[in-house]
Amino acid sequence: MTSKLALLVVDVQEDFCPPNGALAVPDGRAILPAVHALLAQPFALKVATQDYHPAKHVSFATNHAGAAPFTSSVTIANPANPRETYASTLWPPHCVAGTRGAALVAGLDAPGVFDTVVRKGTDPRVEMYSAFRSPLRDPPLASAVSELGALLRRAGVERVVVVGLAGDYCVKCSAVDAAEDGWETYVVEEGTRCVGGEQAWAEVKQEMEGKGVRIVSLEWVNQVRSGSMIELMFLSELWRPACRIFSPKYDMNR
Ligand SMILES: [Zn+2]
Repeated sequence: MTSKLALLVVDVQEDFCPPNGALAVPDGRAILPAVHALLAQPFALKVATQDYHPAKHVSFATNHAGAAPFTSSVTIANPANPRETYASTLWPPHCVAGTRGAALVAGLDAPGVFDTVVRKGTDPRVEMYSAFRSPLRDPPLASAVSELGALLRRAGVERVVVVGLAGDYCVKCSAVDAAEDGWETYVVEEGTRCVGGEQAWAEVKQEMEGKGVRIVSLEWVNQVRSGSMIELMFLSELWRPACRIFSPKYDMNR
């Protein structure tokens, strides 16, 4: 797991972190040690994503009369095809472009920490949990398809390690899209937290695994990276048992 491995740090922004974030993920700041431990390692590409909305963004409950954050939803239509729609939860205003809340948290915002910062959710008309694209596919909305896929392909990346916030939304959607697009995709458990807490994480893990994403521990990543190429191949083939060996959080009863 060396030259062809990318690190994707999803939306570790002030507004997603306690105590002051407008849409703080419970315990969200607790992922920072794992994020920094991964950043200390070499990767072919280190990418941060940044939720980055205009003030009139469709996902803000305040932009819909009578709507309440977390409980109301909105139907979003493809601007190029009104028949293609999806329902999306409404949130408190967050990560408004240029505000302090949209900034990456201290320590991640310094020049050189990441090779690239990819901004998403910049089109006011659509929600974009995945760092790759909005759910609209018929046709895809060009303004809601990020440069992330092209960046990974250009760098020859084969595997993607994903951490960040929130596990049950943007991390999940980004990891699932990465796996669907053909990258071997790992989500590091210590490196994410969910809006819905631990119960949500248990469900989201299963959902991601069902879509080809591998849930691993930080220790697993370290073990594989320090191992020989033969060990890497062995673990790559047998990743699920390997998770059981190296991940103390892995549910042994499943
Ligand atoms: Zn957002």
